[in-house]
Amino acid sequence: MEERGILFVLSGPSGVGKGTVRKALFEGDINLQYSISATTRKPREGEKDGVDYFFKSKQEFETMIEQNKLLEYAQFVGNYYGTPIDYVKETLDHGKDVLLEIEVQGAMQVRKAFPEAVLIFLIPPSLEELKNRIVGRGTETEDIVKDRLDTAKIEIEMMNAYDYVVVNDQVEKACERIQAIVQAEHFRRDRVEASYKKLLEVE
Ligand code: 5GP
Repeated sequence: MEERGILFVLSGPSGVGKGTVRKALFEGDINLQYSISATTRKPREGEKDGVDYFFKSKQEFETMIEQNKLLEYAQFVGNYYGTPIDYVKETLDHGKDVLLEIEVQGAMQVRKAFPEAVLIFLIPPSLEELKNRIVGRGTETEDIVKDRLDTAKIEIEMMNAYDYVVVNDQVEKACERIQAIVQAEHFRRDRVEASYKKLLEVE
């Protein structure tokens, strides 16, 4: 009998490097499926529709909300971001693990909708470094930088809603820590026990 996959959520404060860690994770040899998000944000240079995001108009996104096509969604710095639900459900049903890389409001919604999801909080080595990273990106206006910093302070207080905390001091190390979490989750007594119980019911 096929086991259901595990839903992993990688979240954390703005500018901590979630996107970078997630990309590095999928460049390596990892047994996870990435759920591509939908957004109303305009594509940045080099970003491709259906690869980085499904880029949507506000109206298209709001239709997805109305039709319950999103597992979670949030407004972040003036744009909508959300996780299409069908891909996640189908992939988990096929026994494959899924990873979402989303901001914290969305992660809290996943916690409610999928209490069995494993939530990983990525944190910067220090708040100061967080600031440098956000400002240092240099692609955003001052207002957006301030918005992102204010949001980040609140987000850090949210750490206690998570199952694991991973420090992003080096991308490679952060990836190793996440891989260790993914592996360990498959050995949890409750998961192993549940699969044995199912097996015994069948025979
Ligand atoms: P960016 O515009 O820099 O690509 O992403 C901005 C923020 O939105 C990041 O923190 C990213 O993790 C988050 N994000 C990306 N996709 C989703 C999603 O589907 N849902 C939610 N709630 N946040 C998302």
